Amino acid sequence: MKICVVGTGYVGLVAGTCFAESGNDVICVDVDAAKVAALSAGEVPIYEPGLEELVRRNVEQGRLTFQTDLDDAVRRSLLCFIAVGTPEGKDGEADLGAVMAVARGIGEALDGYRVIVDKSTVPVGTAARVEAVIGDCTDHEFDVVSNPEFLKEGAAIADFQKPDRVIIGCRSQRAGLLMEELYNPFVRTGKPILRMSPESAEMAKYAANAMLAARISLMNEIANLCEATGSDVEDVRRGVGLDQRLGPAFLFPGVGYGGSCFPKDVKALIQVADQYAQRAQILRSVDEVNDRQKGWLFEKFQQYVGGDLSAKRVAVWGLSFKPRTDDMREAPSVVLIHSLLDAGVRVAAHDPVAMPVAERIFGDKIEYFDKSYDALDGADCLVIVTEWQEFKQPDFDRIRQLLKTPLVIDGRNLYDRETMKRIGFRYIAVGRQPVGEA
Ligand code: NAD
Repeated sequence: MKICVVGTGYVGLVAGTCFAESGNDVICVDVDAAKVAALSAGEVPIYEPGLEELVRRNVEQGRLTFQTDLDDAVRRSLLCFIAVGTPEGKDGEADLGAVMAVARGIGEALDGYRVIVDKSTVPVGTAARVEAVIGDCTDHEFDVVSNPEFLKEGAAIADFQKPDRVIIGCRSQRAGLLMEELYNPFVRTGKPILRMSPESAEMAKYAANAMLAARISLMNEIANLCEATGSDVEDVRRGVGLDQRLGPAFLFPGVGYGGSCFPKDVKALIQVADQYAQRAQILRSVDEVNDRQKGWLFEKFQQYVGGDLSAKRVAVWGLSFKPRTDDMREAPSVVLIHSLLDAGVRVAAHDPVAMPVAERIFGDKIEYFDKSYDALDGADCLVIVTEWQEFKQPDFDRIRQLLKTPLVIDGRNLYDRETMKRIGFRYIAVGRQPVGEA
């Protein structure tokens, strides 16, 4: 099939590349000319495991191209995907500026039947708005489909190629069949392609993110209660997760969810509720609990490091909002580092892949270390923010030797309390009792 994907971010680039990998001819379009030039040369500007190799292979095979010219891409495609960003706008509402601009651009370029597919996460009613905008620009036939994306950064290719389900929201049989044909190679193991109305498809995406975010906030609230009551959240987590009605996924307590989806999608759904005069009580709490949880690391830092903070130095391991990505949008590390800098603390940071992104945020206000242990030298404390695999079994004796004070504040509960005690650390973890002497 001939496809264009507009927006070459985490979603558009992965979707376009995976469609090309299954044999389609894909044109990826972006307004960012520098990004288009880099991608055309086989350079992937984001970190996503396995993506660069896949992009290169499909570019070499001539199935995947990049350009800024939307008109030309639309004329050469049957299916046009909209995969641009929908960031948080005024009062938490989803900003649909880019989606509508692309819809208009597609409408103006139509020279015959096309399927316009909304892959961006958008509030209910957006497919209808996209249809109206395109309808104002053209007399040609077209269908609009809502096809929300459920991939996770860090595992995006596997998620895209083996989705739990594919949702196709449309009323047109013609468009629905084309979409099924496109997605059939990805559901060969029997996972379902669900057909529904565009409104239900749009809501299904927000509902999934709202549920996941709620589970995280609830677990974080329980972790704080564990800390206060003398319980251990790791035991509680296991006790809860073995209940077949609940299951073990998404029960890890931490320092709040970040990234480009949960925070903005929860807020956008609250706004949708307001517009329909509904009370989104749970969602508001989910958001509030998350904001508070992002302050947990700094709170512990103040409590356990104590004294004149402006004379302190802290090593931060992990900057991305989760492992296996360089995405720092809404990352807990950003909140922590701003608080540390405001208090005059010197910050020595390490992340396996996100340091170039961090440099764009913090410039020379913090120090960056390519090697994790180098960040520890002379620090008053090590703070773990992201659960990268390489932080899970470090050389504890080396950490102990390098730190000025043997204090580890762990926002991801990576370590065994007994080991930390034996080596002589003061060890503070989420929802657990502190280890070691003050
Ligand atoms: P992103 O910010 O990484 O990428 C958006 C891209 O769109 C950028 O390259 C930007 O230059 C381009 N763009 C902006 N305006 C444009 C225009 N008018 N014409 C052409 N290109 C334009 O965004 P993302 O993380 O890929 O997210 C895209 C959408 O997918 C959002 O709605 C998001 O909520 C949703 N989503 C994201 C994820 C994720 O994990 N990142 C997962 C599922 C769904």
